[in-house]
This record gives sequence, C-alpha cells and structure tokens, in this order.
Amino acid sequence: MITGMSELKEKIQNIGFSGDIDDSDEIREKYSHDASMFELKPEIVVAPKSAEDVTKLVTFVAEHKKDDPTLSITARSAGTDMSGAAINTSIIVDFNKHLTKLIAVEQQSATVQPGMFFRDFDKETIKLGAILPSYPASRDLCTVGGMVNNNSGGEKSLQYGKTDNYVTELKFVFADGIERVVRPLNKTELDAKMAQNDFEGKVYRELFQLLEANYDAVQAARPKVSKDSTGYHLWNVWNRETGVFDLAKAIVGAQGTLGLVTESTVRLVPNPTHSGLLVLFLKDINGLGGLIDTVVKHKPATFEGFDDATLLLSMKFMPSFLKMLGPVRFIRLLFNLIPDAFQLLKGFPKMVLMVEFTGQSTDEVRQKIKALRKELSPHRKEFSINGFEESPTEASSDKFWIMRRYSFQLLRSKVKDKHTAPFIDDFVVNPEHLPEFLPKVQAIIKKYKLLATIAGHMGDGNFHIIPLMKLEDPKDREKLEPAMKEVNNLVLEYGGSISGEHNDGLVRGPWLEAQYGKEVVDIFKQTKAIFDPQNIFNPNKKANATWEYSFSHIRDSF
Ligand SMILES: Cc1cc2nc3c(=O)[nH]c(=O)nc-3n(C[C@H](O)[C@H](O)[C@H](O)COP(=O)(O)OP(=O)(O)OC[C@H]3O[C@@H](n4cnc5c(N)ncnc54)[C@H](O)[C@@H]3O)c2cc1C
Repeated sequence: MITGMSELKEKIQNIGFSGDIDDSDEIREKYSHDASMFELKPEIVVAPKSAEDVTKLVTFVAEHKKDDPTLSITARSAGTDMSGAAINTSIIVDFNKHLTKLIAVEQQSATVQPGMFFRDFDKETIKLGAILPSYPASRDLCTVGGMVNNNSGGEKSLQYGKTDNYVTELKFVFADGIERVVRPLNKTELDAKMAQNDFEGKVYRELFQLLEANYDAVQAARPKVSKDSTGYHLWNVWNRETGVFDLAKAIVGAQGTLGLVTESTVRLVPNPTHSGLLVLFLKDINGLGGLIDTVVKHKPATFEGFDDATLLLSMKFMPSFLKMLGPVRFIRLLFNLIPDAFQLLKGFPKMVLMVEFTGQSTDEVRQKIKALRKELSPHRKEFSINGFEESPTEASSDKFWIMRRYSFQLLRSKVKDKHTAPFIDDFVVNPEHLPEFLPKVQAIIKKYKLLATIAGHMGDGNFHIIPLMKLEDPKDREKLEPAMKEVNNLVLEYGGSISGEHNDGLVRGPWLEAQYGKEVVDIFKQTKAIFDPQNIFNPNKKANATWEYSFSHIRDSF
C-alpha cells in the first residue's frame, strides 16, 4: 500500500521516470484549480519529458491500483478547463512543461505534442498560410492538447466545425501502459485489430460489440444541434454504411478519461487574408430566429453576439481597456467608437450582432458585407434592426471584437469580492428557438439575482453565461443546483445540448442522464470501462461524475 506522499514520489522515481516530480505544498496548491469553480488537491504533480515517461507512469499506476485504489492519473495541459476536468486528487500529469514540440508542419497538416500552446502553434502554421480553425476564445492561453481532449470550438466553428473535424491521427497511451497509433480503420483493418490477443485487440473488440449491439440507440443519441461537447461521441466511431471505425472519435473530447494523448496530427485549412464585419444593432430580440436564418445563408465565417449588459459594462469601464489593450489600440478604439455614440442616440440596442466575412481582398469582403446588408434592409422592422455598421477591415472591426472577447475579463477584474462561477456557461439551442428561449433564460438569471452578461456564437445558438458569485457564501452556493437545473431543463425542452464547447467534467457530467437518458449514459459508462477497466484515468468526471461529489468540491479558497 502506497501511503505517504514522499513514498509515492520515491516510487515514481524508481520506475525510471525522467521528468519532474513535485509534491511540495506550493505546487499541489497551484494545481488544485483550473478555470472552473471546483478545487481538488493532487498528491503529486509530474511533468513527463517523453512519451516513454507517460507509458512508465501508466504501467506503474495500472500495477498498483489494486493495492491503492486512490491512485489515478489526470492529464493537464494549460489548465484552462472550465468544467473541472483538469484537476484531481492523485497524480496530475502536466503536458505543458516538456511535451510542447511541433513535430512536423506543412500547409495541410501538422503533428504536435499536446502541451504546445495554441498561440505558438498558430504562429508556425500561419507562416505557411494555414490555421487550425477550431481554436477557442482562450486561444492565447490554451494548448492544442487541451483543444483535442475537450473537443474545443470557437468563433470559426460555424464555418469549420470543431476540433474533432481536424484530428486525423493520435498517439495514445492505453490503460495497459502502451502507446499506440489511433486512426480510422476499414473493416478489414478492424477485423485484424479485433483478432489481436492483447489489450488493444480487446478494446476494439468490446467497443465494436457494444456499438453494434446498440447501433440504433447510439445513432439516435447524436445531439441535434450544430455543436456539442457532451458525453462520448460514439455515433461517430462506427459507421455501418462507410465501414469505417475510428476510435479517435471517442478519444477526442473524452477529457483524458479514456487514456492519454501523446501526439496529435491535425488537418489545417488556408488562412483567409482579409476579414471584416457587418454589425447589427437590435432593439429587441423578437425577430432573432428569422434574422439568424437569413444571415447564416450568406455563409459568414463567424457570427457572434453580445447583450446590452455587455455593452453597458464596456462603456462604464472604458478606461480599464487602456490597461488591457495598451495606448495604441485603446486610442484607436476610442476613435472608432465615435460613430457608435451617434448610433446610440437612436436607442440603446438590446443586442449587438457581429457577422464576419473573410476573403482574399478587402473588396471581396466589402461585397459580401454589402450583399447581406442589401438583403436585410427591407426587413429592418421584422428583424428589429435599429442600425447597421459596416467595418470592412480588421482594424475597423477591432472595437467589437474587444467588447466580445474582453468583457468577461473586465467583469471579473472589476467585481473584486465575487468570482466566476461557470455552471450555465455553454448551452446550445437551435437558433430558431432563441426569440422564445433567451427571455426565459434572462428570467432565470433575474430570479436567482445572478450578475451575468450574455454573449455567444449566434449562428450555432451557443451561449456563454458566466455569473459572478460569492461561492464561499452558502447562500450563493445554494443557488447553483436549482439554477443549473432550471437552465438545463429549459435547454433540453428546446432540444438543445448542455455543452457546445466547454465539455462535461465535474459540472455537467452529473446531468448527462437528463440529456441522454439512462440507456445511453450506461453505454458511455461501459465505454469508459472498456478503455479503463480499473478506473485509473481522471475519475469522477463525465459519465462517472455525481453531483454529490462535484458539489462537495466547490472552491472555497480564492
Ligand atoms: C476565458 C476562457 C474562455 C474559454 N473559451 C472557450 C471556447 O471558446 N471554446 C472552448 O472550447 N473552450 C473554451 N474555454 C475552455 C478551455 O480553455 C478550452 O477547452 C481549452 O481548449 C483547454 O485547453 P487547456 O490546454 O487549458 O487544457 P486543460 O484545461 O489542461 O485540459 C482540458 C482537458 O483535457 C484533458 N487533457 C489535457 N491534456 C491531455 C492529454 N495529453 N491526454 C489526455 N487528456 C488531456 C484534461 O484532463 C482536461 O480534461 C475557455 C476557457 C477560459 C478560461
């Protein structure tokens, strides 16, 4: 039985682990948080220097799990996870320290270690005129490995989809401690895999049997929204029609609950050279459904929106932008805001929508903007459009992007005695329901007296509401479960999904049954057991999360 912390450290040293091993109070405290509202203190934090270190560690834990059931492994890259999936109690494996290399890059594809920051990866691909378009709003903070394991998406997902669309191959350490390549297989290749007399063969065999036996139920479970990060995406693993079986579709977005990713190969797309916005100011949201429909037909690259509370906040705290943006960008922001001051004389908008078009020249972008404006103009009344602003270049669009991307940060820095509580932060409903749905969400926010702004990806109907709360105060804590239940139930009533991008972790895992029903969640649990029979990877998350456990680990130190 492994008991004391230093004993665990010694044991890990003894397996020939070449990376860093740290069980100091300081490091355990640092790794006990991610960007979620939870806290779990690890026993030890290790940073592997090679895939071999990772395999040694998994083998060690697999061998000792029976003697010490508390042993587990939780992967962590940049730790910006909002669902509580990058923290745990036993061993944290930090990929962001040494496994940060770009292994190969060409115009259409790249192979990268999980811990490489997306911002560094992006610099390299842009040199070749290419991007990985599924980057999240946290693009300056997160890693490619985090994006893969959360199946992240962001502003460009409307046009390009999420990270699972781009992963073509993985290197993956299975629960038996062996690193193997995972890629799409045809039926002959699958049969050969299933005939193997080893752990890999067993995983393929058992998962294939599970998916065959429940084929219709699994296909029917696919969320009927344009983006989703909940559960395991089993409906994409086995396709009877094409005869393709792709294990990577279950691993991407699994939050490290099935095993550890040591390398990802991703497809890249050409980086458009020019972009601009048509901005719409709405006096109410009654015509939102038809409006979104019309806009989406013009195939914008992005379609974002924020509410009046975000706009008010941006105006109120304008000087704070100076600190965040630096003087040059700030002065440009002020200068660019002058036309909007006139715009506001026509009435404060209820919502600001940003429709972005891209192209190979400013002219091409301008034409796309004009075409949409021409189509919308006769419908101004029907869609409650109070005004338009054309920003055909990136420079003139900047001010809107600043409000969209930084308002949340602003709210966070201004309200010092409250903390971000992401618990209704990522739901998706099809846009046609928004005019009815959004006022109902606003009513729930009001009912629970939550301090929150609404911003989101309009084209997908994916919204981020992150209230500021005093989580250490029981009165605020008591609001979490009922408010979350009300919002989730509303989302599900409208046929939506409880997470479009941020994934399940501790916060949404307990509510998967509400979304999928017991039968499908049981299939998720069986999938987890096939990959990870001893439950060594990231326990208590996703399909294995319970609200009792999650709720008992809400952060109370800040
Ligand atoms: C301000 C802010 C805005 C955000 N906006 C978005 C957004 O627009 N869209 C979006 O999708 N997300 C968003 N997020 C959430 C988060 O930033 C992203 O999901 C991001 O991709 C996570 O990357 P990371 O490197 O921080 O991963 P981490 O937080 O370190 O890990 C994420 C998950 O992946 C697992 N994991 C990490 N590395 C591995 C590995 N090698 N093998 C197996 N599992 C692994 C972890 O265990 C964890 O479950 C936002 C977060 C913040 C704080």
